[in-house]
Parts: sequence; structure tokens; C-alpha cells
Amino acid sequence: MSAVLVDTHCHPESDSFRQDFEEVLVRAARAGVAQLLAIGISAATSQAVVVLANRHPGISAVVGVHPNHTHEIRPGDWEKIEELAFHPRVVGIGETGLDNYWKDVPLDLQHDSFCRHIQLSRRCGKPFVVHCREAEAEVLAVLREAAEAGPLQGVMHSFCGSDAVADECLQLGMYISFSGMLTYRRNDVLRATAARIPPEKLLIETDAPYLAPQQYRGKRNEPAWVADTCACLAEIHGMSLEQMATLTTANARRLFRLEDESLILPPAE
Ligand SMILES: [Zn+2]
Repeated sequence: MSAVLVDTHCHPESDSFRQDFEEVLVRAARAGVAQLLAIGISAATSQAVVVLANRHPGISAVVGVHPNHTHEIRPGDWEKIEELAFHPRVVGIGETGLDNYWKDVPLDLQHDSFCRHIQLSRRCGKPFVVHCREAEAEVLAVLREAAEAGPLQGVMHSFCGSDAVADECLQLGMYISFSGMLTYRRNDVLRATAARIPPEKLLIETDAPYLAPQQYRGKRNEPAWVADTCACLAEIHGMSLEQMATLTTANARRLFRLEDESLILPPAE
């Protein structure tokens, strides 16, 4: 395949990549992944993904505090995120959003943090990345309000909502990103929703180390396997793998204003 892929959401600073990160990058490059977005989930990991992005031209950083870590924010953390947001290797803000599944963090705390991230995204002119788990109505309410100040620049990451949620997100200006969940045997309804998304709004991601696609289920996920989601989405939209790679890569580069030439290969090669 000559078309290149972009993994728009992964967590390479995760402990599970500590042993073999360079090999993970080599496998990704071999699978056609030219660029990936490394997503922060706290002040410390946001700092870490910026360091990573400084080291690898094909890795870009997204900085923020994950909704499930909102209660761990310490004094100075938010200021750190705000400072990193303006760093040239940072291309987006997040991941942010709302999570009603784990019930660890009060929703009002998450809500406040979500709104801060959207405001920061506007201030630095970089799109925001939304995590939404069992909180569709609440997330849509925040997005609707935010859209009153103008169309939104952002993405619903690892989308698993309904047609109605997808439609409203699209209306508000959001992109829709699919992870390995799209390939799961039982996810026919999600594939039907994916079929309705306008091609120019589609993104792909791994969310590695989580959500390994069907053929690797239960294993540690890695950026190379974004190709599985691309293949699945291509089939759903009646395109070739190459066409879908070209399309989703162009979409990712447009939304996050990525530079085309950069590659993820380790600097030694
Ligand atoms: Zn994530």
C-alpha cells in the first residue's frame, strides 16, 4: 500500500510501551503509519507526549486531562496544560470529555474541566479531542452550548454512539473517529452508523494500548493495527483500503494541521 495512515489517537507514553517502543514504531512505519497523535491524560503525561513529539517528527502531541483523572489535578497542573497548549509540537487539546461509566469522578468536576479544555482549544486555535462514555446527552449539551460561539473544531474519539448522536456531532462541526471497536464481531450497529458518516469527516485511531482490533482482541494494541480499522471502514464505505487511507490521512492533516512530510521512524534510521 503506497497511501499512508495516521493514527489520530494513541497513548505511547503508557507503561506498556516502555520495553519496546522503538520496535512498535518500526512496525507502525512498516504498516504504513506515517504519523501518530500521542494523547496526554494528565499534566505529567501531557509533558511526556510533548517530549516524545520533540524527538520524533512524525509524532504530534495532544495535551489535556482525561475526564477520569480530573479529580487528581493538582495545583499548577492546569497552568502546565495551558502552557503546553501553545507549544509548536502540540496539535490538539485533550483528551477531554465526560465519562459516566467508571463513576469515580463526580460529573460536575468533569464538566468544568471539559469546558476549560474547549475554551483553551479556542484560545490556542487547536482542535479538541472528546472522550464520551455513557454520557452522550451530557456531552452533546456541552458541545451545543460551545457551538453557540461558532462551529466546533474537534473530534469524537473512538466513537461508539448512535446515529442520532453522530448526526448532531456532525452538525456542530465535529469529526468522527473510529477505533478497533469498529472491527468487533458484535458491532454491526456501529458499522451501520459509520456507513452514514460523510467521508470528509472520518478519522481512524487505535487508542493503543487499549481496544485492539478483532483479530488481536485481548492483546496490547499498537499503532500498526490502525490498518485493521482502516480496512473495515473501507469495506463499509465501498472503497479500497488505499482510498480510505488517503481520505482519512487527508482529514487528519486538515483537522490537526499536520505537516505532510514528517515520519514516525526513529531518528537513528
Ligand atoms: Zn485515549
